Parts: sequence; structure tokens; C-alpha cells
Amino acid sequence: MSEEPAYVYQLQNGKKLTAPEFVIYFEQKVFKTIRKFNLFELDDKLVIALSGGKDSITALYLTHKFLSKKNLQHNIKALLIDEGIDGYRPATIKFAEQFTKNLGVELHIESYKNNYGKTLDSSVNLLKEKGKNISPCNICGTFRRNALNVGARKLEATKVVTGHNIDDESQNILLNIFKNNFKILARLGPFNGVVENELFVPRVKPLYLCTEKEVRLYTILKGFDVGYDECPYSRGSFRDELSEIVNKLEDEHKGVKNSIINFFLEIQDSLKEKYIEDGSDSINYCTKCGEPSQRIVCNTCSMKDLVNNEN
Ligand code: SF4
Repeated sequence: MSEEPAYVYQLQNGKKLTAPEFVIYFEQKVFKTIRKFNLFELDDKLVIALSGGKDSITALYLTHKFLSKKNLQHNIKALLIDEGIDGYRPATIKFAEQFTKNLGVELHIESYKNNYGKTLDSSVNLLKEKGKNISPCNICGTFRRNALNVGARKLEATKVVTGHNIDDESQNILLNIFKNNFKILARLGPFNGVVENELFVPRVKPLYLCTEKEVRLYTILKGFDVGYDECPYSRGSFRDELSEIVNKLEDEHKGVKNSIINFFLEIQDSLKEKYIEDGSDSINYCTKCGEPSQRIVCNTCSMKDLVNNEN
């Protein structure tokens, strides 16, 4: 009697896949996403936003594989932003250093400490002592956007590649709906950078249609020795709550994440027309650092002042 093959994954249509079949399915899904949304041009200089976690490592590996077929893999560099999160980031940095070395990709590291004067841990502790109610992710997100954009520009990148997957994106969509952030919502999608400005480096997301579970399984099957720990600051955040809700819905009603993304892609043009292309969003420049900003002093400089003000 022939033995049933060892299946590792079941598609939504019920078809079961073995490990080699899943790897092919996953890679094809990523390559199709790159082609469908036209994420790369042949002359692009790409910088991968690398954290050393499973998503960004997979984005790096498959972008490298995609470009290697065209012999363009030398157009890739990696940029890691070290927030300064004790007990979490050092291990992923070590892994990122080893992985990029094996792949032959240059790795550059920028840190919050060097760029903004304090590690994330010190900033969080200081604001807590001062009784300021600002979430670590708020500080972190503000600095990361700036560090990635400025760091990518220094490396002369034409695009930044991020490891956002469908779980991140469906949470982002809901988060911005629940917070009434329609301008930010309009800028989401597999190809960010709808505000055209030479100082903004557009961002692209090759894992846009892959679930977190698929990325995890891929890294396991490929033998990538990534850590799966979550950032300690993610616990209890609004995003964390949303993640639990969406995962529960997905378990009970398969395809919910896809539906959220499809709905967003359907209405994105109307959102852009209403919230971005109406001219009310014109870009000014921060009077302190000169970066594009809608305020006189940009969010990064305001946050930097806040975390360095010891009084
Ligand atoms: S969970 Fe929050 S604090 Fe941690 S890396 Fe992400 S944005 Fe930064």
C-alpha cells in the first residue's frame, strides 16, 4: 500500500501541498506579486529594509532570487535600523549580518542612538519617568520612517523593499480606518510613495499577498535560522489587539485577510483622488532638518526634541 505524501500546507481550494510544492507555490506567489504590481524596474537600485526577522529575510532572499534570474542581484543593498531594544534586536542583527554575508549583499546599519541621540529603550524609560503617555511604537515608527528614508537616500536607492505581509497590511488598513487616518490609508498598498518628492524613496512590498503563516513555513522549510520572537513592545498595543481579532476571524471565515486587501485595492484610487491628489497635501520642508514635512517642524525633529529633553 502506497503511503500518503507528507503534506505541509492546504490551499484555500482544498489542495494539499508537500514541502517542495509549497516552496514553489510560495516563491511563485511572491514573483507574481512583483510582476502584477510592477514593483521593480530593471534599473532600480534596491535597498532592503532588513530587521533580521523572518519577513525581511524572506523579502531579501526572494528579491535577490528574482533579480539573479536577470543577473541584476548586484543592485541590492540591505539597511538595518537598530532601534536599541535590549534582549531582542542584538540577536536579529547577528543573524542579518551572517545572512547578508552568505548572500553577498552589503549590509548597512543605522541606529536611533546615533541618529536621534537615544536608544528606543532609553527614550521609553525617560518618557515613562516624565509621565508622558506616548507608546513605544509611536516613537519607534516616527524614527524608523525617517531613518529608512534618509538611510536609503544615502545609499542612492530608487526603492526600499520591505517585508510587509498580508497580516501587517490588513491590520494597517483597519488601524487607519479605526483612527480615521484616511490620508495615511490612501498611501498604503504594495507600492507606497504616492506623494512624489525627490526626497522620498518609494517603498515596495513583494510579500504583500503572503500570509504570516506562509512566510513562517517558508523560512522553516528553507532552513533559515531566524528567531520568531516578537518585539517586547508589541504586546498590548492596538495593533496587537487587531492582530488577534483578524486572526480569529480568519480562522473562522477563511479568506478574511484577502477580502480586506481586495476591498482596499478596489477603493484605493478613489481614496488617493480624494485625500492626496486634491492639492491640500502639498509638501513643505522642516525648518530644522530640511526633510519633507506637512508641519513647520517635522514629526521626527519634534520626537527627537521630546526624547532628549531631560527636564
Ligand atoms: S513593535 Fe513597535 S517598538 Fe517594536 S519594533 Fe515594531 S514599531 Fe518598534
